[in-house]
Amino acid sequence: MEPMLPECTIRHLPGGVNVIIDAHTHIYPDIVAQKAIRTVIANINGRLNAHTTGTFDSLLDSMDAAGVDLSIVLPVATSPGHGSGILGWVKEYATSSPRIIFFGSVHPEDPDYVCCIRQMKESGIQGIKFHPGYQGFPADSKEASRVYDEALNQDMTLYFHGGYDPSLPGCDYTSVERYAALLKDFNGSKIVLAHGGGYGEWGKVLDLLGDKKCYYDVAFVLESMQRDEHAAELFKQNEDYFLFGSDSPWRDQKKYVEIVRNSTALTPEQKEKLFCKNVQKLIRL
Ligand SMILES: [Zn+2]
Repeated sequence: MEPMLPECTIRHLPGGVNVIIDAHTHIYPDIVAQKAIRTVIANINGRLNAHTTGTFDSLLDSMDAAGVDLSIVLPVATSPGHGSGILGWVKEYATSSPRIIFFGSVHPEDPDYVCCIRQMKESGIQGIKFHPGYQGFPADSKEASRVYDEALNQDMTLYFHGGYDPSLPGCDYTSVERYAALLKDFNGSKIVLAHGGGYGEWGKVLDLLGDKKCYYDVAFVLESMQRDEHAAELFKQNEDYFLFGSDSPWRDQKKYVEIVRNSTALTPEQKEKLFCKNVQKLIRL
């Protein structure tokens, strides 16, 4: 039996239940963080700024500045075999602060995916991040479904990159259509689509996913969401399914917190659902 990671106890946080949870952040091991950040920025020709240095400590600094109580870190296994390396890293860092919660990742072509998912579960990891574009498989592929099944059977949350990715022009592996197909098979499962499900394609998400009862985060699309009538309708129909997420370091946590806090379109109850209540239907704190 693997040693369990410490459980975050929301009751012990100064804000009680009124806490702010950022469901979508990225950090890297200290020795590769600088290079990882540079590579991501280069991949989209410099059209992106990093708001932390990509390290564990810099995420904590950002959380302090923004008033974020807990962050979920979403790593991605970009090759078969990478999942166990990520798990080793997660175990090393996860005991350093109860304010940072790690998901795991596994590549769908990993021949040891069953073992990898069970090890994650035994270590206390509550969810798995997939980025089908970076991982090279269509989100709705039959092969990947076996991996989703295994993780869902372990009561884990599946967290997907949703929609277009500017670093992968022409790739349709994370299209809204593919998630509509996936959700037909996995209706009602604990599934989160990042970036509002479609990276700004709000009309299409509303049409194809609006009634699917999957979760959405607002990472990278919070700005466009405020101006789009389809986004407003999607939120109206699914306010119990939206999670606050920044995509830090690619968005500034403080700015995102302020947008939600200062919003006149959202009621205090909706803000509470977005900041902390909805995500607690997916993970234990
Ligand atoms: Zn992200």
